[in-house]
Amino acid sequence: MAQSVYAEINLTALRHNFSIVRKHAPQSRVMAVVKSLGYGHGAVEVAQALSEEADALAVARIDEAVLLREAGITADLLVLEGVADAEELNLVAKYKMQLVVHQPYQIDLLRQLGIDSAIDCWVKLDTGMHRLGFPVEDLDKVLDQLKAIAAVDRITLMTHFANADDPHDSATEYQLARMLAAKGSLEYPLSMANSAGILAWPNSHAAWVRPGIMLYGASPILGLSAAEINLQAVMTLRAPLIAINRLQKGDAVGYGGTWKAAEAMSIGVVAIGYGDGYPRHIDSAAHVLINGSRAPLIGRVSMDMVTIDLRGIDVQVGDEVTLWGEGLPVEEVAAWANTISYTLFCGVTARVSRRYRY
Ligand SMILES: *Cc1c(COP(=O)(O)O)cnc(C)c1O
Repeated sequence: MAQSVYAEINLTALRHNFSIVRKHAPQSRVMAVVKSLGYGHGAVEVAQALSEEADALAVARIDEAVLLREAGITADLLVLEGVADAEELNLVAKYKMQLVVHQPYQIDLLRQLGIDSAIDCWVKLDTGMHRLGFPVEDLDKVLDQLKAIAAVDRITLMTHFANADDPHDSATEYQLARMLAAKGSLEYPLSMANSAGILAWPNSHAAWVRPGIMLYGASPILGLSAAEINLQAVMTLRAPLIAINRLQKGDAVGYGGTWKAAEAMSIGVVAIGYGDGYPRHIDSAAHVLINGSRAPLIGRVSMDMVTIDLRGIDVQVGDEVTLWGEGLPVEEVAAWANTISYTLFCGVTARVSRRYRY
C-alpha cells in the first residue's frame, strides 16, 4: 500500500494545451509563462516539456530564470519583473536573458552596463492596471533613452490586462485602445494577452501572447469551464484513503467538532491536508473523488488529513482519492475554497512529490 500524496503532472496534456494556444492565436509568437515553479507544476520539467514548442519562456524573477538556465534550459527567457540592481543585471547578461523594463532606475542600470552585452528589452507600459509599467505618455522618452544605450538590443512593447477574465468588462477594451494608441505607427512588436486575452480578446493577440494558466489546463474565463475550451488538466492531486471509521449518531469529527454525524455511518480519512496545500478554508459543499464517486468533505481540514463522508460509497483503505485534476476540475475546488485555480496550483507544497507522465 506504500502510497502517499502526490501530484501527477501530465506533460502530454500540457503540450495539448499549448496547441490550443496556437489554435487561438495562430499569427502570434507564444511566450509560455512558467513563473512560480511552473504554477506549482515544476519549473524545469514544464520548461523542458515546452521548450521545443514555445517561442520563449517567461518567469517573474531573476532567481527563477537562473534556476532554468542552470538546469540547461536555453530557450529565450524573459524576466517579467526586470532587475533590481546591477548584480541582477549582470546575471541577465551572463545568462542571456531578456528583460522587462518598467522603472527609470532600470534604464539607469542598463546605461551602466558594458557595451559587449546585447540585452533584449520589453518596455512595459501601464495602460490601466497600475501595477508595473511606465505611464503611456512616457513611451517616447523611454524609447529614446533605451535606443541610446549600447547594451540594449531588440525592443518589444508590452502591457498587462487587469480584467481580461471577464469577457464583458470594458476595462480591457480601454487598456487595449490605450496600448494601440501609444504604439501608434511605431514598428516594435507588441505583447498584451495573457490566457484570458488569448481566449476572450482576439484583438489583443498582436506579435506575442503570454499564456500561463491555460497551459496548465485551467480556464481563465469566468463562467467557462476548461472542458468547454478543450483544455486538459495537467495536475492531478492524489492521496490515499488511510482509515475507514464507523460513527454513531451525534459523533463529532475533527478539530472543533464542527461536523456531527446525523446517523450511524462510515467516514474516511484521506492523507492530505493544508500542509500539502489543500485549502483549509474550503466550504461545506466541497467534494473529493474516490473510485469514480464524489464524496463530500466533512469537518475541518487538518494539516495532514481530511475526512470524507462515505455513505453510499464502496471503498477500501488504500484506495486513491483525487482532490483535483482528472475527473474533478480544479475550478470547482477553487470555487469551494473561494479562490482561483492559480492559488491552488501554486500552493501545493514541497512535501508533495510530483510524478511526471511524459
Ligand atoms: C503571469 C503573467 C502572465 C500569464 O497570465 P495567465 O493569466 O496565467 O495566463 C502573462 N503576463 C504577465 C506579465 C504575467 O505576469
